Amino acid sequence: MSALLDGVYDGEMTIGELLGHGNFGLGTFDGLDGEMVILDGVCWQLRSDGTATRADLDARTPFAVVTNFVPHITAKAPDNLARKDVSAFIDSLIHSQNYMYALRITGDFADVTTRTVVKQEKPYPKMVEATQSDAVVHMDHVSGTIAGFRTPVYEQGISVPGCHVHFIDAGCTHGGHVLDFSLLSGTIELCVGTDLQLRLPLTDEFSRAELAPDDLQQQIETTE
Ligand SMILES: [Zn+2]
Repeated sequence: MSALLDGVYDGEMTIGELLGHGNFGLGTFDGLDGEMVILDGVCWQLRSDGTATRADLDARTPFAVVTNFVPHITAKAPDNLARKDVSAFIDSLIHSQNYMYALRITGDFADVTTRTVVKQEKPYPKMVEATQSDAVVHMDHVSGTIAGFRTPVYEQGISVPGCHVHFIDAGCTHGGHVLDFSLLSGTIELCVGTDLQLRLPLTDEFSRAELAPDDLQQQIETTE
């Protein structure tokens, strides 16, 4: 995540290889060419016009988080659950905040607001600059799935602390990085993570990147 902030937008891992590490997750594509969501082993590319298409297995990613999703905890969501109340609801379901949790919310939404990064051209700007052109899409009365992770604060810099989730509609035609939502009714599933495997690219850009800026937390809050 720190490398993305520093403008390292090209990775080495292909989507085909990534899917070998997990059937569920999120991320982005080389050049920030859209948001990624992986559900049931299918990788979807969510572009800045809000559309979703199946990602090319030969495409590459500079940042992705994946796991093999096993719903250890399943709960019916409280009716009319707003995004701001999700964290407290998750806290009521889990026994510790010190683990990683993959999170899947499936149901009918009153509204979902997403944003999607716009493909960047070299020389790449830093992410605080790149995300200023993000396209925001608003969907009303939509069924679909929110997928992502609740990450402990101690993983700051490796990943995005707190809830980082992406949305795709039930027809797999639209989606993006979730800014806000209101869930009319649905199901929340959590998969507890105790193992973290980190793969770093052996690129010149990554090896020269500034990965521990003083304002790391602020940059993550601005961009995510
Ligand atoms: Zn995102």
